[in-house]
Amino acid sequence: MDGKLSIVATPIGNLGDITLRALQTLEAADIVAAEDTRHTVKLLNHFEIKKRLISFHEYSNEARYDELLGLLREGKHIALVSDAGTPVISDPGYELIRRCTEEGIEIESLPGACAAITAVTLCGMDCSRFSFYGFLNTKSAARKKELAEIQGEGKPCIVYESPNRVTKTLKDICEVCGEDTQVCVARELTKVYEEVARGTAKEVLDMFCARQAIKGEVVLVIGPQACATEATEEDIVRALKESLGLGMTKKDAAAHVAALLGVPKNRTYQILLTL
Ligand code: SAM
Repeated sequence: MDGKLSIVATPIGNLGDITLRALQTLEAADIVAAEDTRHTVKLLNHFEIKKRLISFHEYSNEARYDELLGLLREGKHIALVSDAGTPVISDPGYELIRRCTEEGIEIESLPGACAAITAVTLCGMDCSRFSFYGFLNTKSAARKKELAEIQGEGKPCIVYESPNRVTKTLKDICEVCGEDTQVCVARELTKVYEEVARGTAKEVLDMFCARQAIKGEVVLVIGPQACATEATEEDIVRALKESLGLGMTKKDAAAHVAALLGVPKNRTYQILLTL
């Protein structure tokens, strides 16, 4: 008998968001592989599901992979869950899934809650195209470089952020992308104290700076550069110098500033050659 790995999305705060299929699969599985077994046992207890749990997280060693793959080869059905939301999305699972695909082990994915997608639907920006970045770098210089790349893409970008860093990141957005950049801070999604703050980076920064502490979990949606008045040569020179100062190559800086200011790339490149 062939085993099966079911990737099971679980709620990101509101237990009512569990799907019927997730419950049926957790009930049917032989084993639940969980990022934090203490956390998952609470979820299972809530739904009166008793199951063997195996811990599986980003630091799991080779022995744990061997154990899980061995069980799957024996024909066991394993449900993979993370602490909240969709496994693999800024959560463990990728490497296990890669190994299962290599071995031809059956895999299914059960769609459900995901903080990034929930924020996309709430942000109020045109997300007909968007990108997802996961967590930004915790160091400001590296984060600014990432923000410059993100802004260069010209579409809204979803990032996960720690509540302790939200104001720092908003300050960086003001500096790198411009104070008028549209942002959305989606906090405690699906929970009692859910909050969605939309506005320019400066407006939302001021709102959060006025608070003593920011608590809970946060998704940040960073809008593309606001359509500004036509950029002058001075604007382009300033933006190029900033980009080069962030460590970008000349080619990247020219492309980034072109996207940022909505001007042709050959214009930014020509100006760059004069610096
Ligand atoms: N795999 C998960 C998913 O599908 O959303 C994300 C896991 S990642 C380790 C955790 C991050 O997701 C948090 O730091 C926060 O940025 C975001 N997040 C998770 N739950 C959230 C919620 N209820 N409200 C806002 N953000 C949330």
